[in-house]
Amino acid sequence: MSYLALYRKYRPHTFDDVVGQEHIVRTLKNQINSNRVAHAYLFTGSRGTGKTSIAKIFARAVNCEAPVNGSACGECETCKRVQDGTGINIIEMDAASHNGVDNIREINEEVKYTPAVGKYKVYIIDEVHMLSIGAFNALLKTLEEPPAHVIFILATTDPQKIPVTILSRCQRFDFKRISAREIEDCLRTYMDKEKIDIGEKALAYIARIADGGMRDALSILEQCISFYFDETITMEKVLYLVGAVDSSILFDMINAIKSQDAAKVLVLCDEVNSQGRSIRQFASDLLEHSRNLLVAKTTNNSSEVLDYSNEYIAALKEQAELVSTNEIMRYIKQFGTLEYELRTAISPRVLLEVAVLKLCEVQMDDSAESMMTKMQMLEQKLEKLMAQGIQAASAQVVQQAPQKEVVPTRLPKAVPEDIKELVARWQEVLHSLDEQTTLKTVYATTEAGYIEDDILYIVYKQPMEFGVKKSFEKMEKAICNFAGKEVKIRLMTAEEYANKCIETYGSSPSPTTEVKDISQVLRNIESKINFNIEVRS
Ligand SMILES: [Zn+2]
Repeated sequence: MSYLALYRKYRPHTFDDVVGQEHIVRTLKNQINSNRVAHAYLFTGSRGTGKTSIAKIFARAVNCEAPVNGSACGECETCKRVQDGTGINIIEMDAASHNGVDNIREINEEVKYTPAVGKYKVYIIDEVHMLSIGAFNALLKTLEEPPAHVIFILATTDPQKIPVTILSRCQRFDFKRISAREIEDCLRTYMDKEKIDIGEKALAYIARIADGGMRDALSILEQCISFYFDETITMEKVLYLVGAVDSSILFDMINAIKSQDAAKVLVLCDEVNSQGRSIRQFASDLLEHSRNLLVAKTTNNSSEVLDYSNEYIAALKEQAELVSTNEIMRYIKQFGTLEYELRTAISPRVLLEVAVLKLCEVQMDDSAESMMTKMQMLEQKLEKLMAQGIQAASAQVVQQAPQKEVVPTRLPKAVPEDIKELVARWQEVLHSLDEQTTLKTVYATTEAGYIEDDILYIVYKQPMEFGVKKSFEKMEKAICNFAGKEVKIRLMTAEEYANKCIETYGSSPSPTTEVKDISQVLRNIESKINFNIEVRS
């Protein structure tokens, strides 16, 4: 028996074999069971999601004389003739290579004749978006008035390119990408049947990079089986086969972004594009790579967490050393967004370029992560400047700043005239005191006095209250504020004050009474005694 490629060998033959398109299978089965088949279908979805396989299953089922659970029985006359190829009522055409108006005119001629076997002639036109405008117009003629025995199934990966006039005449089915888990389960079943030894991680990885396409998954698997014939297929081997080249471009891209080399990132984008690689896949690879960098940076034992070769992990660690955690977070966010946006992008390449340029030029990025990066860059620049010996300039700045702080606004010194005024307005001074500082209470019963110098004497009654002493500084400040001058104060008991007055003037005036200037008379006494009572505690 000749060798059959895996994807052909395991191509689904009945609706029940189909993986991951339950919503479509169910509708089509119901249409067959209820005999309500349409004349034109549009199957859209990315490659490898089962469009042509389901089209063929459907074509066989509509012709079967006794369908079983919606699928062809495989035993009736029609089924047998379809299988041995003598029934020619299922016609496949690839519009990529047959896109001219003549190809469609040929079909238009054929559809006039009823099928030799079975009920329907089923035309499956693959990559239908490739048809020329003339060909679409020709097709439209038949779709407008299709013969009862004809069914068209148009399959495409790019429904936007199909004229609305065609779309409006088709029942549309959107094929979804098959989940990695569904693909993985499926691959495991096949590998068990084939008795091929393959690691779980390798299977999961293939399922993931197939990106929802079963055919891609099987092709990659096929490649691995051929390359590692009779060997156990491990994750590392798969990586080597499909990803070795890829990971180097990922490292290059991160390096270029890190060094803000805009030209280099564009060259790398071009490289990816010219290699015909899927931009979406590349974006998700970059996301995965950034995630791995984060793991390598934040864990001590990354080889246990990361399921890759030791060489790859060593390279990851090396790169992670060069990039800050915050910066990696910025990459992850950006590539995550990119991956999402690419799902519906018409120009994926432009999106990729904008995304990497944004990462490259931090100034263009206004995310919170980029602010952190900008701050880190500023810090680094500052450190560099300091190290380069521009301390002179920065030292000046440093010197100037504290000078300003140290020098308080100095009040002019109070002269005797100011003191006299304060004595005269003592009740006003007391009244102005802030209630909360308790000064008002403590000093309520004091009196003020002036004795031929620039000191304001505050006189209190015996015995001396503790609170008065304690609040001395506060009181001095309050008085300075009131006068707008720098006023020295002394605290004295009434007795002390009287003595001082007698010493100075030879009499004992009442403190709050304004003392007349009799200094000329008594100046000589003052110089003799020069009393200096410091009550200040
Ligand atoms: Zn049958």
